[in-house]
Amino acid sequence: MGDIRGIPTPICPFCQSNLINITASFNPENYEIEMYLLDNASCADCGALLTAPTPADLPS
Ligand SMILES: [Zn+2]
Repeated sequence: MGDIRGIPTPICPFCQSNLINITASFNPENYEIEMYLLDNASCADCGALLTAPTPADLPS
């Protein structure tokens, strides 16, 4: 199992999966994702530990 925490990524660099497990909280009024933990993410396919991305991480 890999571990590349510290580098925000929307795609697993090990298996190229774009399904990421995150720990999220939901807004009780509109059921939208309110926030998610960045350093508690993993690849849904291979289980590699990742850092979840945010829009602020987009390269400019
Ligand atoms: Zn993976």
